[in-house]
Amino acid sequence: MKILVINCGSSSVKYRLFDIKNAKNFLLLAKGLIEKIGQRVSLFTHIPADEEGLKKKKVNIHNHQEAISLIIKALVTNGRRGILQSKDEIGAVGHRVVHGAEEFTGSTLITNDVVKSIKRSSRLAPLHNPPNLAGINAVKRIFGGVPQVAVFDTAFHQTLPRHAYLYGLPYKYYMKYHIRRYGFHGTSHRYVALEAAKKLKKPLNSLRLITCHLGNGCSITAVNRGKSIDTSMGFTPLEGLLMGTRCGDIDPAIILYIMKTEKLNPDEMNDLLNKKSGLKGVSKVSSDMRDVLAAAKRGNKLAKTAFDIFIYRIKKYIGAYLAVMGGADAIIFTAGIGENVEVVQNKALCGINRLIGKKTRILVIPTDEELLIAQDTFAIVKKNKKQKGIK
Ligand code: ADP
Repeated sequence: MKILVINCGSSSVKYRLFDIKNAKNFLLLAKGLIEKIGQRVSLFTHIPADEEGLKKKKVNIHNHQEAISLIIKALVTNGRRGILQSKDEIGAVGHRVVHGAEEFTGSTLITNDVVKSIKRSSRLAPLHNPPNLAGINAVKRIFGGVPQVAVFDTAFHQTLPRHAYLYGLPYKYYMKYHIRRYGFHGTSHRYVALEAAKKLKKPLNSLRLITCHLGNGCSITAVNRGKSIDTSMGFTPLEGLLMGTRCGDIDPAIILYIMKTEKLNPDEMNDLLNKKSGLKGVSKVSSDMRDVLAAAKRGNKLAKTAFDIFIYRIKKYIGAYLAVMGGADAIIFTAGIGENVEVVQNKALCGINRLIGKKTRILVIPTDEELLIAQDTFAIVKKNKKQKGIK
């Protein structure tokens, strides 16, 4: 079955087309990205699996529906030969959806009720869920009844115990506004946990894993016997580790202090915490780890400090999750920084050898959230057809 995976951001659509036979047998047919949707000039990158190199084309795209139409056109009529003969070859579409709140504990077939629930959860993810919904609606308009599946960033963390997801705030705010830890990057943590179990040749439900997703956004999860039992991101993706532009853990009183003294309104403060902090804010160089490392190498003291904070936080969370699980069978590094920057792995683990023991494996596993979305989509659509007695 050919499955299109779509990840809609506020001004971008990323996609991958897979041919999936089963969980072990799959082929990537094409991937790409449309950026700057709604701006004067949008950019389109389409890469069939057998072609190399990035070719960015200038296009004029006003909304997500136009973007998805263009993607389909490229897949069907790309140059001399299309990857698809017709759009009807696409058997299902899988969507990344950021927030599933407490309503979704796993991936699900998209029905009208599911769309309503995703809409309800938009209160908790106002920047993310609306574009995800725009993608779902666009596919419905373009394809009619093709089965669509939603795969949530938060779903994997719905197994967190109550003492790990509740904050020390008046309980009424949990009841009234659903303020609690949700956690994010769930698809990536689940993917690398599954891959780690394969590598270790042991069932996932026998393993204690610490998964470190270190990209532009960073989070660490304690995966105990296949279940997420704690994770560093919280009510929003702002909590936890130091990130490219996000501050991670801070004393909440700092927010009030800065707002008062600098006379910032909530939007300005939000901007400061999410876009002007992290590696970028501390180093004053860049949010990109490569630039920060290069500057530190040249002797830039603030870049070195930003790097040191980044490492120190990772070490603290690994230590915390070792304590939470009473040890770990493996510590896994993934995403842009986790996969590529060996010095991060070495420094974050430096000095904790005595805590982890000889049996703890250190693994670097490239994440592939899109593949897991495609596999979930395939499994759910197949199960649904079986239930309905359709071959
Ligand atoms: P996102 O979270 O947006 O998916 P990525 O997982 O691609 O981001 O991670 C982006 C981060 O990874 C950036 O800080 C970038 O500098 C870093 N990174 C990516 N590749 C490398 C590399 N080869 N060496 C060092 N850092 C890298």
